[in-house]
Amino acid sequence: MSVEKTLCKLKNNNLQVIDKKISEAIDGAAIGEDGVLLPDNKESITKLISNMRKHLIKDISVSVEAEETTLFLIQSSCHSFIKCLKISMKELKDQLEEEFSNSDNITETLNKLPIKPQDELFKRVFGCGRQCPFCKAPCEAGGTEHKQHHAAIHRPQGLGSYRYESSERLVNSLCTTDVHSDRKFKNTDTKGEWHPYKDYNKYYPDWIIPPDPTTEASDYWKYVLVQYNDRFAKIYEVKPAEVPKAWRRLTKEQALKGLRDAFNMK
Ligand SMILES: [Zn+2]
Ligand SMILES: [Zn+2]
Repeated sequence: MSVEKTLCKLKNNNLQVIDKKISEAIDGAAIGEDGVLLPDNKESITKLISNMRKHLIKDISVSVEAEETTLFLIQSSCHSFIKCLKISMKELKDQLEEEFSNSDNITETLNKLPIKPQDELFKRVFGCGRQCPFCKAPCEAGGTEHKQHHAAIHRPQGLGSYRYESSERLVNSLCTTDVHSDRKFKNTDTKGEWHPYKDYNKYYPDWIIPPDPTTEASDYWKYVLVQYNDRFAKIYEVKPAEVPKAWRRLTKEQALKGLRDAFNMK
């Protein structure tokens, strides 16, 4: 943002919008209900301010107290007051434009915002917070307003604590592979009963897990499973997954390339 002075441009654009609204409110407020310009006396100022408040009600809330204090201080007649108000507006606008172009402290601006862009971005990227019932891959459907969850890349299910009952080893296959197979799973959701992966919909109707016979785990997740196999096993209190020899030969660079390829990052 600092390179292109984007923030300065953004602020200036907003300033123009605000200035236009206030200018229009002043012009609109100077006309009475009868469609004629307010008479040039001190009483008209009360009317003018109250009209302006009505014009700007959606954008600015002016407290009655502030309005009364201001009115108390004004000693001029209505038309010269409008003239002065417009001159002040112009001065303030010039002053702000000057300020915007001289300081471009992005951090300071972000800190002052009532809604933090970084939080909004995080929410978008973080999504709904749900995880694949098998491999714990996070849902990637944007935001929170979606009916079905999905993830582009599923992981070896052992990373989501799935284990083979017979060998007590972490499962190294992907959920996308298993929903294409005739294999079965069981967990607390199935109340310990075996259930075909194919019919995962029965227990997880809000998840879309595309059946895929060809998919192998991405190099990244293979690498993660190889590197942290023992630690996952320890935490899940099972035996480490059996991993093919080829997986063990993967380097960190290959793993990171797998990640970049998967998310189209050059
Ligand atoms: Zn999964
Ligand atoms: Zn979701």
